[in-house]
Amino acid sequence: MSSAFSISMDTSLRYLKGVGERRGAQFARLGIATVGELVRNIPRAYEDWSKLTPIASAPFGEPCCVRATALSAPAEHRVRKGMTLYRFQVSDGASRMRVTLFNNKYAAAKIHAGEEYLFFGTVGGDFTHREMASPLVEPAEGGQRIRPIYRQTEGLTTRMIEGCVARALEALGTELDADPLPAELRLRHSLSTRRFALENIHFPTSSEALAVARRRLVFEELLILQLGLLRLKGRTRSANAAVMAADYTEEYLGLLPFSPTGAQRRAIADCVRDMQGQAPMSRLVQGDVGSGKTAVAAGVAYTAIKNGWQAALMAPTEILAEQHARSLSSLLAPGGVRVGLLTGSQPAAEKREILARLAEGGIDLLVGTHALLSEGVNFAKLGLVVTDEQHRFGVGQRAKLAAKGVNPHMLVMSATPIPRTLALIIYGDLDVSVLDELPPGRQPIETYAVRGDKRERAYNYIKKHIAEGRQAYVVCPLVEEGEGEGDLASATEYAGKLAAGPFRGYSLGLLHGRMKPAEKERVMGAFARNELSILVSTTVIEVGVDVPNAVLMVIENAERFGLAQLHQLRGRVGRGKYKSTCILISDAQNEEAIRRLKVMCSTNDGFKIADEDLKLRGPGDFFGARQHGLPDLKIADLNGDMPLFLEAQEEARSLIAADPELEEPAHRPMAEEVRRLFDRVTEQGLN
Ligand code: ADP
Ligand code: MG
Repeated sequence: MSSAFSISMDTSLRYLKGVGERRGAQFARLGIATVGELVRNIPRAYEDWSKLTPIASAPFGEPCCVRATALSAPAEHRVRKGMTLYRFQVSDGASRMRVTLFNNKYAAAKIHAGEEYLFFGTVGGDFTHREMASPLVEPAEGGQRIRPIYRQTEGLTTRMIEGCVARALEALGTELDADPLPAELRLRHSLSTRRFALENIHFPTSSEALAVARRRLVFEELLILQLGLLRLKGRTRSANAAVMAADYTEEYLGLLPFSPTGAQRRAIADCVRDMQGQAPMSRLVQGDVGSGKTAVAAGVAYTAIKNGWQAALMAPTEILAEQHARSLSSLLAPGGVRVGLLTGSQPAAEKREILARLAEGGIDLLVGTHALLSEGVNFAKLGLVVTDEQHRFGVGQRAKLAAKGVNPHMLVMSATPIPRTLALIIYGDLDVSVLDELPPGRQPIETYAVRGDKRERAYNYIKKHIAEGRQAYVVCPLVEEGEGEGDLASATEYAGKLAAGPFRGYSLGLLHGRMKPAEKERVMGAFARNELSILVSTTVIEVGVDVPNAVLMVIENAERFGLAQLHQLRGRVGRGKYKSTCILISDAQNEEAIRRLKVMCSTNDGFKIADEDLKLRGPGDFFGARQHGLPDLKIADLNGDMPLFLEAQEEARSLIAADPELEEPAHRPMAEEVRRLFDRVTEQGLN
């Protein structure tokens, strides 16, 4: 046998003893490909086999661990075809209990009379006797410990994973002592070594050791994340290359058809002050749907442009980019601002013309989608980058757009549904202005959750409002994630049914993600001009669409949407002076779904909804790389680990301040971990 091959963190898991091709493929399904990923795959829970419970005092209905001697070998009872029971009595010295194993010949064969075992399971029975059905069984010797439970996949049980982890930790040997966190840093934050943490997160010697191990790993995870984010944001410390000498806000306000809210005024002033400061602006404007973020962005852009700079505004969807281009152009053109639009699906000739004008400074404000990031998009003098509904963009994308200018000012607009805790992480060291005031005259949207049998009444309610000149959205059932063919077919069919049935004689439009941009634009335009009374749509209208005359929204299969998404959808109504209503149709039975819909009916507050969403879904989901362009947190729990997060953030800041590129020998291993964590994400974020 040759064991000259040495195992490191980056070794493919297939080379670990006892894994091989087949099991390697099973691990791959859990997202584990290397030895390092295996040992960093932390248990999702633990079974405490270390605390023993006497049979007599075992709580009913709760799992516990009993140490007892088998009084006989298991007796086999064939109950019926395919069902064999193995029964035996055990004693812990004071009391007896009957143990039953179902169809488990393998486990039964390992039980010998007179030997001592640990039985982990739930005790049942009554006053006359106690019993434990299908417990987990281990020999008493060495079994009395806290055992890890892992996420499993078909063919790969938690016990198999446990065995592989044990072998991996052993095979890693001295590799485990290479600690990415310098000893001095560990000392300052009372953190254990990596070896201790990895050994004890899997095989804790006590619950205290487990807590110490977890704390170390959470700190490391949050520190590496923060280091990565700070490096992405490194540009914020550079000098302000686009100082805006004059403030054109008053002139801008003269162009607005309404008077701004106090919050809008304050946010614009914050931004202008930033742009006049020492460093480029990095500001987040957070405001619930309908709070008027566009008017803020336009005001900031106006001052930048009047100071001789170009501005870019990036929106997450074509519909939104087109809407912004349309409304910003009509608002700002009287002030002499030239607005251009760039989207992925524009005809090539049109695009060429826009790009040429942009490069020679003939466009002051370029509005667009991801297309703004493409090569060949060259600004003459880019001074301000605005991203709307930022949570749709990766951190990397924001950086990429910024790179088209020399340290341009950055303004990020976000509809609130990001809880404060997450905002802290995602936006790290952005300054924040909050639009905590809605434009005057807004009435809260009334929301009702109803069953499918009330659909007819919902339709009649729509008709009544259309008769009064208003308009309505109907969001069709969500088929699958994304906007695939199935979605298209079902949206078309659904709209067809409405047009032929309950809404015969009404003017309906259909909007879905697979339509050509020009066609989308046509439908949106017609709806905005009230040529269509009802817009049937998939979730493409979710973000930002603004038609104040639309006062009703019906959402089919509401239980399939996330809370934040429902809030965004609902935000399409209640944008004008009319009372608006949202009707959530759902036949969902399960408690969680019902609870979520209740949340929607009880509040219009985006912050509250976001917090509820976080509670219901857990941070993992909310924080998914797909939504935020950030790595998933594997260990940290953003609700419980907030103090540790702040400690790690502080440390990350001082590390980056002292050694921005993490080049010092003691810091290089951390830089390596940052690279490992962000590689995957940046790739995704930039595509
Ligand atoms: P969001 O913050 O959701 O992006 P918008 O910028 O789309 O909101 O604004 C929502 C609607 O409110 C738009 O129709 C806009 O013209 C209008 N609006 C914005 N600010 C004011 C204001 N101060 N007074 C009246 N209406 C406003
Ligand atoms: Mg908006």
